[in-house]
Amino acid sequence: MATLRFSKKPVDLEALEAAVAAATVGNGKIRLPGKPKLAPGRPKKREIPEGLWTKCPKCSMMVFDKELDENLKVCPHCQYHFPLGARERIHSLVETCTFEEMDADMTSVDVLNFTGAISYTAKLEENKKATGHKEAVITGICKIGPFKVALGVMDFGFLGGSMGSVVGEKITRLIERATEKGLPLVIVSTSGGARMYEGMFSLMQMAKTSAALAYHAKERLPYISVLTHPTTAGVMASYASLGDLLIAEPGAMIGFAGPRVIKDTTQAELPPGFQTAEFLLEHGLIDAIVHRKELKQRLIYYLDFMTAGLEHRAALVA
Ligand SMILES: [Zn+2]
Repeated sequence: MATLRFSKKPVDLEALEAAVAAATVGNGKIRLPGKPKLAPGRPKKREIPEGLWTKCPKCSMMVFDKELDENLKVCPHCQYHFPLGARERIHSLVETCTFEEMDADMTSVDVLNFTGAISYTAKLEENKKATGHKEAVITGICKIGPFKVALGVMDFGFLGGSMGSVVGEKITRLIERATEKGLPLVIVSTSGGARMYEGMFSLMQMAKTSAALAYHAKERLPYISVLTHPTTAGVMASYASLGDLLIAEPGAMIGFAGPRVIKDTTQAELPPGFQTAEFLLEHGLIDAIVHRKELKQRLIYYLDFMTAGLEHRAALVA
């Protein structure tokens, strides 16, 4: 039978005495030995680096920015559609290398010498720098699927997608080019309305763009208007609502005056969901709500049947 053997270590009494002595200091008060100090430095906070994650305003989930970009700025958890820049939108819709931009260098001028908290000229410069765009709309001729199309895309990031003389002029020239070349027209709108820095000059863009669309319609050419969040005021009251087909993105706010103004004016309680794409679909103002990731395919589908009766259809898909 095996016997367990314990080795007895001799107790170092001198070391024990030193340990007890070290705990007793001055006035007879006992101070316990504190924790050993590690490297000096500030207490570590858990920080989330900026520009990597975005909080979804609808479901409050944190979404990895790279994932959001790859998902066309749609929340993968709740399908909330974040604003999408004009360049990214064009990239998501047109065939590679087919976009020929029009009037790329056209920029606004401060004709009224408008100065509020900051001058209009300074505001323009600030927005140009922030967005890398010269104006709130990008226009051009491109191919969507097999179809040659005149495409205009607005960018809310540039002065709230407001329509000044240049936005109106670029849109009008796009429509006129479409009429002249017999092309279908697609405009993706997002706007806070007319650009008040330009006063009357911005308001007359409503009539100008609408008139150009009348000539386009006279040629029986199709116009698809895509309404994204938000499309309001002067833009909604002109070209954005004049499409042969009105498509909206889910949850987009679409309307003329804001809900607060309407409520104050009419003194009536507004119905739930008022001015959302879903509400307007139910009430017949718009024709369809299309998820951003399906938009291109849906446009091709609509262009296919809307151009079916055109005599020059073969030229459009050449
Ligand atoms: Zn979400």
